[in-house]
Formats: sequence, structure tokens, C-alpha cells
Amino acid sequence: MKKFNDFIWETHGIHAGTENDHVKHGIDKLEDIVDKAIEANHPSITFIIHSPRLTNFRYAAERNTNVKFIRGNRSYINYPKRIANLRKKYSNQINIKFGVELEWMGAGLGLQWSRSKIFQAEDADFVIGSVHFAPEGLPYDGSKDEAYELLQMRGSLEAYWNGYFNEMIEMIESFGDMIQIIGHIDLPKLNVEVPEVLQNFETSSHPLANKFRTLLEIIADRDLALDVNMAGDFKGVGVYPTQSILKRAYELRIPASVGTDTHHVKYYGENFKESLEYIHQAGYKHYVSYSKLIPEKRTIFDDHELKVKYTILNKGIELLNQRFNHENRRIIPDFSFGGSFTEFLDVYKNATGMGDYNAIRIRKGNKSITISNETPKIEKQKVKGLFSKHLDIPGVISSLFNTLASEGINVETARLKSNRDGTAVAFLSLEEENGNIKNAIDFISGTDKEVFKSLTYKEDADLPNYYNNGVYLLEMDGVELKLALSDKVILTKHHNAPGVLLILLSALASKNINIIDLRLGKRNQVGYSALAVDGDKNVINNLLGKLGDQYYESNLIEFHSK
Ligand SMILES: [Zn+2]
Ligand SMILES: [Zn+2]
Repeated sequence: MKKFNDFIWETHGIHAGTENDHVKHGIDKLEDIVDKAIEANHPSITFIIHSPRLTNFRYAAERNTNVKFIRGNRSYINYPKRIANLRKKYSNQINIKFGVELEWMGAGLGLQWSRSKIFQAEDADFVIGSVHFAPEGLPYDGSKDEAYELLQMRGSLEAYWNGYFNEMIEMIESFGDMIQIIGHIDLPKLNVEVPEVLQNFETSSHPLANKFRTLLEIIADRDLALDVNMAGDFKGVGVYPTQSILKRAYELRIPASVGTDTHHVKYYGENFKESLEYIHQAGYKHYVSYSKLIPEKRTIFDDHELKVKYTILNKGIELLNQRFNHENRRIIPDFSFGGSFTEFLDVYKNATGMGDYNAIRIRKGNKSITISNETPKIEKQKVKGLFSKHLDIPGVISSLFNTLASEGINVETARLKSNRDGTAVAFLSLEEENGNIKNAIDFISGTDKEVFKSLTYKEDADLPNYYNNGVYLLEMDGVELKLALSDKVILTKHHNAPGVLLILLSALASKNINIIDLRLGKRNQVGYSALAVDGDKNVINNLLGKLGDQYYESNLIEFHSK
């Protein structure tokens, strides 16, 4: 039996406090708990904050203060800034994630209000959709008295739960595009009984059981994850959700996210291991966490090699998802695994095998990528092309391509390598020798003499080996690239004609963006490029938006998962 991890990548994690908004909720001094996490050697910590509520939706405890305020409004607006400051302060010590718990308050004003709150939490890593309040203005998780009042209004236990499920379904229908996770799906059990028909929801023919089964199916169909929340256990009513619900979710292939929903520093880290044992009991061997709204896969086991493989898988998921617009990022991709990644076939029942091919292939719609941590082998073949030794500064590659294009020479493949001493080497294989190569070399030597240390055209040369250890993008849409991934990668799909790639290279040179590595590929009339670059992301994104319609796709890929 493998050992469980004693750390979890939380989603419904630590509630950031409401500061001076009169009724205390969560932790105000975020540094205290970050220090505690660093002390425990944890790689990451996750904060969450409630979106502020309309004044009609207040707990009795809040009403009783008789103070006019919107709870947490000010702290909510400051929240992204507080997180940004924390990230700066602890940049090399711990990875800090943050999310929002979005309050469902009905489809009217509540919906518009919530949409506006999403804009105020831009850059959040995830959004959990939660129902805490009935439209009657009474909370499900307030006092026993408030729950009893709502129970009286609705007339029966079944009607009480039926109302809650209706609100959940309504929330998903209205919020489906804004949330990634469904919060504590059986929250009402905190204050009222769970009716018999719901305890046996798998088999019961009662309309309430039927509605609950439908709710779970809607969650599965929308690719939402289920919050496995240890707070219920802490409060004595058992983890949200119960084992039987979680088992059903597992059968429906609903991803689980885990969290402790912590409100006090002293409870940080409690229940970490229990949460993994709990989801494992329902069948799960992995769970999800989020970076920039993109799901990451996490193993429940304390197994270093397996964690390394998950890191590669997450890089691939991030890479593929960033080729899609926001709405399509949540759609779960399909996988194939081969070589050392074959063990993932046990975990992802829908995946297909690739035998000895030591790689992970991820696909969605008409896009796909293949990645691996195996350093590509160098093919023993003779090549002809241009060998260059030059200064490692922005604009050099653009200048090379520029001169070749002016002589009507198209570059077939490119390989770069920085010597990390201010110089770099490159090899370009050319589509065909049209007799102009000597001219091109003369022009470059004339124009950029101080930049190029040597520039020679060789036939029958050995293909140089520029591969270092790293995680490699082997293919994009089935076209071979073999680019070592770095912090920032540009991927393009474009019309494969002379001069098209030059547009991108000139654009980058104009803003002093350095190209660390460059790989080209093509399939008939479609060209692909993968560039490892160094520079400001806003500047790069701005350039990529202006390349013109010869570019079918151009994306800056960044990696946030760890
Ligand atoms: Zn909640
Ligand atoms: Zn919460």
C-alpha cells in the first residue's frame, strides 16, 4: 500500500479575513499563516474569500450588530492587491494561490452583482460557486433558529432540500461559465436532517432523489469539479459531501478538489491526510487544483517519481489550454500515455496507450500537443545549412531570416543554443539552395559584422546536438518541434510561405524580445513555430495580436503550475 501525501494542494483553502468590516470572518494577518506553511515546508498555500453579499442576505449575527455595512466589501476589493503583495514578499519561498467563493443570491440582481464581483477578482486562480442563502434571505449555514425558520416556511424537510437543489441547479445554469468548482454540495446537513430518500438517492424513485441525481449529472456534463470540504467534519456533521455522493461523483468522472475551509491560523494543515484518505475511499487516486482557472492534476500518494510525472502532465495541460480561449479552457482534454507514463492509464480510464513512446499526448477539439521529460536523441544524419556564431542579443535571428528572405531563401528548421556567456550558436537548414546563399552571407557580413563572429554554409555536415535536459514539447498537432520548454513560449500556426515567419521575428526584435530557442515545423501549407523567449508578457501579447491573418494561431504560453 502506497503512503498518502501529508500535504494537499487546496482549493477551498484558507479564508482571508474581512479586516475592519465589523463582523470577523477568516484570517486577517495572512503573513502568519504563510509563515506557518513555509515552516512546514509546504510548496504552496491557497487563500479564498467570499464575494460580498447584498444587504438582504445577512446572517442574524450580522443583523444584530445593527451596523450598516456590506460584509467584506472593502477587504474583497483589496484582496487581489494583498495577494499580489504576498506573492512579491514570499516569491522564492512558497507558491501562493487565491480564489473566490462566489455567493449565489438568485437570478435577478444577485446575478448581476456577482458578475460585477468577478471582475473585481480578476486573475484569481479559481472560482467556487456556493449556495449559502435561500432566496427567502435565510442562510443554510447560519444558526439552528434561522434553519428552523426556513424549514417552517417551506413546510417539510423534503421541500427544504428541494429548494436548495433548485438553487444549485439555477446557479450552475446562470454561473456555469464563471465557476470551476461546486462548493459543499450537501451544506444543509449542517442544520437539518438528511431525509431518508436522499440518504438512498442512488436507488430511490422519490422526485428529490431524482433531482439530486440530475444535479450531479449537470455538474459532470459541465466539467465542473466537486469541492471535498473538510469543514463539515470539523463541525461534526461529516465531510461535505458524504461518501455515497462522492462515490457517485467518481462514477460520473467528476473531478474532486480538496480543501479544509480553514478560518483560524491554529487549524492550518489539519485534516490534510484525512482528506486524501477520504477521496481514495470513494475511488479517487488523484484530485485537481487550479492555476489561472486551468485545472492541475495532483496525486494523492507520497511518491516523488509520480509527482514529477504529474508536473509534466500539468505543464502539458497548461500548454494545450492556453491555445484555447477562456470558455474552452475548462473542457477536459483527452490523454494518451506511453513509456514511463503508462501507469497513468490506471488513473485515467478514458486514456489510450502509446506503447514505448515515452510521452504524454493531450488533445482537445482539433488541437493537440505531446510532451516528455526525455531529452530527444540526435538523429545521425548529414545535413546542409547555415552555421552561425553570434552575440546573444535580441534581433540577431530576425536579421538572419531577413537577409535570407531577401534572397528568396526559406528556412526549413532552426536550432539555437545560448552559450550563456553572451554568445550563441545557431543552425538553420534551408528549404532549397537557389544559388543565392553566398550573396546572403556576404550581405550579413557587410551589415552586421560586429554581431556575427562566424557564418558558414556547409553541406554534408553533422546535425549539431543542442539538446539539454528539460521538459520537451515534442509535437504540436502532430507536427514535430522538439522545443525545450522555458518560462515563456510562443507557439504559432501560420501560412507556410517565405516571409511569414519574418513578421513574427521582426515584431519581437522591434521590442527587444530575445529568442532563446526556436523550432520550426510544417505540414503542407501550414507552418508551425515554437519559440522560447525572454521579455515582458504584455509587450509580447500586444505584438502577437497584430501579426495579421497569415497567422491562424499565435499564443504566449506561460507556466503557473508547480
Ligand atoms: Zn462556503
Ligand atoms: Zn468557505
